[in-house]
Amino acid sequence: DSDLLAAHRDEIEALTASREFAPWIDGGHYSPETENSVRTVDPAVNHPIVSIRACNAEDVDSAVDAAWDAFDGTWSSTAPAERAAKIREWADLLREHESELARLECIDTGKPISQARGEVRGAVDTLEYYAGICRSIEGDQITTGDDLHAYTRREPFGVVGQIIPWNFPLWSFAWKVGPALAAGNATVLKPAVDAPLTPLRAAQLSAETFPDGVINVVPGTGSEAGSALTDHDGVRKVSFTGSRDVGELVMKSAAANVAPVTLELGSKSPFVVFPDADVEKVGQAVADGIYYSSGEICDAFSRAIVHEDVYEPFVDEFLGATEGYTVGDPLSEETTLGPLTTDEQYESVREYIEIGKEEEATLLRGGSAPPSGFEDGWYVEPTVFSDVDNGMKIAREEIFGPVQTIQTFSSYEEGIDLANDTRFGLSAGIGTEDLSLAHSAAADLQAGIVYVNDYGPIRPEAPYGGFKESGIGNDLGKESLDHYLQTKSVYMNLEEPTL
Ligand code: NAD
Repeated sequence: DSDLLAAHRDEIEALTASREFAPWIDGGHYSPETENSVRTVDPAVNHPIVSIRACNAEDVDSAVDAAWDAFDGTWSSTAPAERAAKIREWADLLREHESELARLECIDTGKPISQARGEVRGAVDTLEYYAGICRSIEGDQITTGDDLHAYTRREPFGVVGQIIPWNFPLWSFAWKVGPALAAGNATVLKPAVDAPLTPLRAAQLSAETFPDGVINVVPGTGSEAGSALTDHDGVRKVSFTGSRDVGELVMKSAAANVAPVTLELGSKSPFVVFPDADVEKVGQAVADGIYYSSGEICDAFSRAIVHEDVYEPFVDEFLGATEGYTVGDPLSEETTLGPLTTDEQYESVREYIEIGKEEEATLLRGGSAPPSGFEDGWYVEPTVFSDVDNGMKIAREEIFGPVQTIQTFSSYEEGIDLANDTRFGLSAGIGTEDLSLAHSAAADLQAGIVYVNDYGPIRPEAPYGGFKESGIGNDLGKESLDHYLQTKSVYMNLEEPTL
């Protein structure tokens, strides 16, 4: 559709013409040593947006040096109230640029503009939350007897290394950088090569409030810039969001320097629909949980586990809610389901749909070519499989796209066992009107986040993290601030008064 392409080219031109997108190191644009560049593409029309010079190991060194200079310079002695004010000022700047950032996120990831706007607001909210709790960093006074005074100090690590994926670039940037800065660290963050634009733009905006070198952003590939960051002996703490297998590599690499790691990894999250559930409400919640952001969400409800008594009404409601999603141009306010963000992801999701057919799950809906008019983009229509069992690949592996599996159960134990029969444990959902059942299931489900009768919403006050192979530690909440602080015990010898 040439009109679509023309509209996207105009938008790309408007957003990038007078703007430089380059690695951000020591408070300025940086020209990496390398000639390599990475190209980011608008997935709705498969059209290039900009090429960015990709950082290599030497560039990561420069960023880590700049971060240490900033930390050792003024940043480590900045009072919490002052840090809070700077984070808040930055949040205000992002809010002022909401429209630009949302449009950038929309063309870079393909997510619908309304969701992109929500993401910018989520990022601002996260930074404001950390600006608030930054002033509540406290140590303890410890009773040890009259001859000794003991207390603890909570101190930043210095320079932290942070790595994020491409599905929520701006939001995850704020999730990482907000608590790291609130705790008093300087950061070097590597965004994903496929969607680096909003972190780079947000870093540029940070120059108005933070000293040079406090925030550094090093776009580049995982194998080069990513591993250089996690291997670096100047990086004292590593926080990673991404896939389980890369998480394992990151953990091994950080182990060489005994740097602590926080890992936010993938999942295969179940939603258990009990027989008394309000199927209308729950059908919508499960649909939102798998179609929001085209299913490219770490806590997507990709497995509906439904009691056999409500199987039919649930499926009717879920398919009805599925029809309510409007696949289309992400720049349009009406669109609720855009393309997948990368061509690799597009190929991978389509392959999983073929696997589901080979595994002889019943294809209830979808599974075919992109919607008409969007053939050039990386669109996958909402796809639903029933008659799924936990032995199938489509029930075990993270697909990361708008593909739902539905299976049934007949007793409480069976429902919980099916839900927990996965190596992952990021989130789980429960559909029931029975309070006591909801509390029991919330306790029995092996997941770091449990949603009852809903998908989301996520609030910065509540910690977010996975059980089992979905991760270590948490983003968000006080927990995340805690991960960016180390504890020092101070003993003071108290002499007998001699006066
Ligand atoms: P990915 O693991 O391929 O990449 C994530 C980041 O790691 C990218 O920036 C990448 O360049 C970098 N990377 C790759 N190899 C590396 C290496 N050897 N060393 C250091 N860094 C390396 O993941 P993805 O495909 O970008 O994102 C999708 C995955 O992220 C899914 O599994 C999803 O569930 C997960 N995710 C989890 C959360 C969460 O909060 N739990 C949130 C969003 C996404």
